[in-house]
Amino acid sequence: METPYTSKVALSSNDQLLDLGLLTMALDASVTGVTITDNTQADNPIVYCNQAFIEMTGYAEHEIIGRNCRFLQNDDRSQASRSSIRHALNSGTRFTAEVRNYRKNGELFWNELHICPIKDDAGKVTHFIGIQKDISTEKKAQQLLRAKKAEMEKQIQERTRLLKDSEAFLSSIFQTVKVSLIVLDPGLYILSANEHFYRTFKVGAEETLGQQLFALGNHQWDFPGLKNILNDVFLTSNPVENFEVDHEFPHIGRKLMLLNAHRIELSGQYKDQILLAFEDITQKREAEIRKDDFLAIASHEFKTPLTSIKGYIQTVERLIPAGPFEKLRLILHKASLQVERLNNLISDLLEASRIKTGNLRLHKAWFDFDKVVYETVELTQTVSPHHTITIDGKSGVQVFGEEAHIIQVLTNLLSNAIKYAPKSNKILILVSRVSNYVKVSVKDDGLGISAADQKRIFERFYRVGEVQNHYPGMGIGLYICAEIIKNHGGSLWVESEKQHGSTFSFTLPIGEQH
Ligand code: ADP
Repeated sequence: METPYTSKVALSSNDQLLDLGLLTMALDASVTGVTITDNTQADNPIVYCNQAFIEMTGYAEHEIIGRNCRFLQNDDRSQASRSSIRHALNSGTRFTAEVRNYRKNGELFWNELHICPIKDDAGKVTHFIGIQKDISTEKKAQQLLRAKKAEMEKQIQERTRLLKDSEAFLSSIFQTVKVSLIVLDPGLYILSANEHFYRTFKVGAEETLGQQLFALGNHQWDFPGLKNILNDVFLTSNPVENFEVDHEFPHIGRKLMLLNAHRIELSGQYKDQILLAFEDITQKREAEIRKDDFLAIASHEFKTPLTSIKGYIQTVERLIPAGPFEKLRLILHKASLQVERLNNLISDLLEASRIKTGNLRLHKAWFDFDKVVYETVELTQTVSPHHTITIDGKSGVQVFGEEAHIIQVLTNLLSNAIKYAPKSNKILILVSRVSNYVKVSVKDDGLGISAADQKRIFERFYRVGEVQNHYPGMGIGLYICAEIIKNHGGSLWVESEKQHGSTFSFTLPIGEQH
């Protein structure tokens, strides 16, 4: 059969011939571009290119043959790889380079170029074989990867900057607050302390940092209780709140300190550390005691002349003859009502200071609970005829407690319900027996109390901001009520919503003898 190949080439010394057409077909079948340049001719022109090279560049064969390979670089001649190509061509050495080339349509592609020189017997380079591979896709992927990496690095830098900023911010708070702060590790060793701590305890960083809390100073923190509490913080993660420490400190003398401790539950480097805050409340407590003393003395001193005034008014009322002096009698009656009011206020103040100093003595006895509720409501009803007070239910039991105190609680809750519900006229009292307790609820349709204020109204002298200027009062009624109920072993609470009324409820154990 006739062979289609026209030329044959001698490749070995024993004249074994290989079909040149077959070789060309093999080169054309390659997916890698192949060129041969003739170095014996001027400007080293391309004398052969395979099909893959034609497809890679987009040029036709006749547009390629006869030109120097550099034509693929268009105007992009400032590439660094060009000088190494030139050097390799001049010295006739093999080399590999990545070159930016352009297809016929102007599109850039990256060419991974391997050049291999062919030498004659005299060692002179006659040809160069160029193996060329389009690596644009890999290059693009590399560039994308580099861009992604750069972007990630930028993000990391930004995050690091933000972290540093917030760390600096937190540290400035740590240093600025007017509370002594230290951070402990799980072994209760001090990791850091703020300026306020050093100033308050008159110690330096060198004798504090790295020390065990209980070894500090003259072992001033080493007392029973604190160790257990701090260990509990680790075990249960429950914070220690307002733990009072009354102690003789080496440099600053006797102080009352308020301790608060929180376990840091973050993961990472802060995990399991404890933030411990000390607040010196010595002066605050002394001021409170002075204020309490003053209140106790003042109300005690007011009481005696007031009792005399009350007596004198009653005497004058009795001495005034009936008839023309009726108007005077009316005025005196009003005066005696005001004196009575003042007397009640002073009694409340005295009661509050007795409670504060723990001097409230209970004189308990059995009393008919429903009767007490009924009589208190009846009395309040006569003083406040505009309101309708309704009692719903009964306990049906005798209660062991101090009757006068329970009357005081009921009166207080009722008068608040009247005072703070100016636009409504209905008050409902619910009485029941619940297990071994009696329960009373006083329900009004008045101003209501916000959730934040509900937490504070049982404190001494606390009054809700907006009522202060419109309704008279000292803010001690509920404090007294809460203390009385507590002393009886019951509890007092409020349920309320702003503008939707309030319900104050209390329970009392029926028969427990406290
Ligand atoms: P006072 O009435 O003398 O201010 P209390 O201790 O009895 O003192 O009450 C504390 C505060 O609680 C009051 O100032 C008022 O703001 C609020 N309060 C008490 N009872 C009611 C109520 N029934 N409705 C709305 N607010 C109330």
